[in-house]
Amino acid sequence: MTETMLLSRLHHPVRNLGFGVRAGIWFQGCTVYCRGCIARDTWPFDPDRACAISDVLDWLATLPADQLDGITVSGGEPTDQPEALAAMLTGIRAWRGERDIDVLLYSGRDTTQLEREFGWLAEFVDVLVSEPFLLDRADECALRGSRNQIVRIFSELGARRYPLVSLESEYGPQRKHLSVAVDRGVIWTVGIPLPGDLAALRTRMAERGIETKRTSWLM
Ligand code: SF4
Repeated sequence: MTETMLLSRLHHPVRNLGFGVRAGIWFQGCTVYCRGCIARDTWPFDPDRACAISDVLDWLATLPADQLDGITVSGGEPTDQPEALAAMLTGIRAWRGERDIDVLLYSGRDTTQLEREFGWLAEFVDVLVSEPFLLDRADECALRGSRNQIVRIFSELGARRYPLVSLESEYGPQRKHLSVAVDRGVIWTVGIPLPGDLAALRTRMAERGIETKRTSWLM
């Protein structure tokens, strides 16, 4: 089993991609190529982004237990690194044990391919949000960037925290909140922006004299 992965970034606390306070793990590399993707910086399989999966697990273990309700895994496209994803999820499952720490995974792959090639995900994740982002169906739906995307629940914990009948009322408000982080000259956002949010953010920054040379949605 592989011991390394290509990692875009880690972040804690994440408060807008699932239940409660979360750790975010973003894979580097994507071959889905959705038109209108806001994270084109995560597309290249950059070998300089290689890191030990054990380091990611060690990082999770450093997070305060009373500020960790779940883990959101996104990208990039996590299933583009299937061995690394399996190794990481295996480690997370062993580490969380019986604790109520849910795992929510984003994939841009469609249900047919996920069921055919990645059925094993159901053993490791509580919630799977799938299907490619479609620019012409982008709207304010809960936990998703576009209306075609599907939320599927694989566990009792997932069903308890993400009741599909009230998904919009419970998680829709998260779409109005983006966190902004700055790291060595790179400004990045955590959350799923509403249509137009990032362009508006760039305009507001320009008004305050903050120049952006490149953006992840226009690269
Ligand atoms: S939205 Fe996700 S799956 Fe689609 S191109 Fe962007 S990173 Fe890849």
